[in-house]
Order: sequence, then structure tokens, then C-alpha cells
Amino acid sequence: MRGKAHDGETAAVHEVEVEVSSWAISFRLGDEVQLWRLSEIEVEPLGDQVRLRRRGQGARLTVAAEDWRAAAAGDAAPVARRHRRRERRLVIGLFIAAAAILLFVFVGVPLASGPLARMTPPLLEESLGETYAAQLQFAFPPCAGEEGQDILHAFGDRLEDGMDTPFNILVEAVEAPMVNAFALPGGRVLITGDLIAEAETPDELAAVIAHEAAHVEQRHVMQAVWRSLGLGMILDAVVGGGTGAGQQVVLLAGSVTELRYSREAEAEADARGQEILQALGYSSEGMAPFFRRLAGDEQRGERRAGVMEFLSTHPDSLGRAAASEGRARPGAPAFSPEDWRMIKAACDGAPRRSSSD
Ligand SMILES: [Zn+2]
Repeated sequence: MRGKAHDGETAAVHEVEVEVSSWAISFRLGDEVQLWRLSEIEVEPLGDQVRLRRRGQGARLTVAAEDWRAAAAGDAAPVARRHRRRERRLVIGLFIAAAAILLFVFVGVPLASGPLARMTPPLLEESLGETYAAQLQFAFPPCAGEEGQDILHAFGDRLEDGMDTPFNILVEAVEAPMVNAFALPGGRVLITGDLIAEAETPDELAAVIAHEAAHVEQRHVMQAVWRSLGLGMILDAVVGGGTGAGQQVVLLAGSVTELRYSREAEAEADARGQEILQALGYSSEGMAPFFRRLAGDEQRGERRAGVMEFLSTHPDSLGRAAASEGRARPGAPAFSPEDWRMIKAACDGAPRRSSSD
């Protein structure tokens, strides 16, 4: 567009040709090229003309109002609108991505974890279990009493006969400052020395071991691993694969003491554990008294730290005690009095056996 320019110092009027771009106008004034950003131009209407001034400068440019409107409408405004549209699209896109991630983590992975667990090849689950076991043996070293460990191993082998599983159920007593039992992927079942000390009868310990073995058989363990792995993989994608943030979360969330099962899975493992014991001719009466005693401690206000751990990972202990009582059948004790004595002594401070096996 054409315009009349004043340099602000002399009265001279320069006829200039003004170039309009999406973000600025430019024109030659004397031997200088003026480049004014649209954002710093002040517009003063003068009838059918407008006077343009660059903020803070004396020079001014007068152009036809119609030309200026066309220039502004043709370039600047649409550009600003395009910018705003692009920003809006970006915000919406980010919002959708965030929603999709949340949906996947909290709905998708938990829903998919069951089928994923059942589809996981047993060999893969076993090698994953070995990784867990290798890390855990430092935090929870095996108890030193060899005889007691052998008796527990033999009981795990016996349980397999009543189970429908490709896994080797390897029961092991470990030193840990808590009353608890947990199953690793691939079939290892760890029982803490404190839990063995809490169990008053062979039936009670057998019930806890059978419950954990049922978690393995029903692939609950692998399902819990998939849930925590899924979260880690997503974090890797979001935070960036190279940071290892996701792997860190896998290690934290996936550490076995943190693997949580759903209420349904716990109820299923209770029932299936009792069924396995009954199929092998063992008593399934041990679960109710064990749960009831630990829960009773809490009701009486005796909150022993170790017992709280067990109750927090085995919620609704009293309800489960009642349910398992209804299913309980008498049978042979899982351990003879001599075996029971050996198991009880396994974690009693005898020199620690080598953890290389
Ligand atoms: Zn459980």
C-alpha cells in the first residue's frame, strides 16, 4: 500500500510504498528502512485515513484507512487467530493425551492385566521371578535352619500335586521384620520368620502357604506385576525412556511386598487354597483362627508393627475368617510335631545358610 511518511524531525513528506507482512510493516524513509512490528504500532483515525506511529518514535505514516483495514484484516488478524487456534488445538490435544494416559493406567491396564497374565508364557514369568528373588535375597535373606527349609520345600512340592499349575511351588522361610507371606512370579512363596512365630498350629501355616500358592496358580501374581509394569512403561513414555523413571517405578511399585491383589483375588485365593489342602487330605481349618487372632490383636488395640503389615496386605481379616470357617474341613495336619519343631526353629538365629541355591 502507499503512504505518506514524516520522519518526525523535518516537515518533509515522503511518498512511500509500504510492505505489509504477517507481523510487521516496512518502508524506506530517506536512506533508512523502517521496520515496525504490528504489535508496536499505534493507530490514530483521521477521517478516511489513519495515522500510524511506532510506539516511542517521532516518525509517522499516514495511509488510507481502507488500505490499513485490508492490510490488518488480510494478514495480522488472521495470523493472530491462527496462533490462537493452534494454541487451543495444542491445549485440547494435551488434555486428551493426559486423559488417555489416566484412562489407560487406571482402567486399561487393570482391565487388561487379567488376560495379559493368563497369556504370559510360564517361562517368562519364571525368569521374572528369578529377578525378583535375586533382588529380594538381600532385603529378606533365607533363614538359616536347613532342616526346616527342607520340610517347607517338600510341602511346596506336595501342594503342586493338588494344583493345576506349570509352576514349581518353592516355599522358603525368610528373615524379615514383619509378619507376612508373599508369592513371587513363577511360584516362589516366601514366609517370614515372624509369621512362622505367630502361627500356633501346622494347620495355620499350611493355610497361609496354600493361600499364596493359589495366588500363583490363578496368575494373580503376574496380574499384579502387569499392573505395576504397565504404569512404569507409561511413565517411561511420558518422562522419556532414557531417564529410567519408569523402571524406577517398576522396581518400587513392583517390589513384592507392594504387589496388591484385588478383594476378589484375595477371596478366590482363600477359597482355592482351602480346596487344594482338602484335595490332598490336609486340614483346611487353620485359616480362620490365624486371621482371627491377628485381627483380634488389633481390636484389642494391641497394634504390633509386624502384625499391622499382615493386616494391611490381607484386608477384612475377620470377614475372611468367617467365610473360610464355613468352607473348612478337618484333615491330616500338614506337618508332624517333629517337622513343626524344625520349621519353628528355622529362623531362630542359627547360622545363615548360603543363599546361592
Ligand atoms: Zn493374598
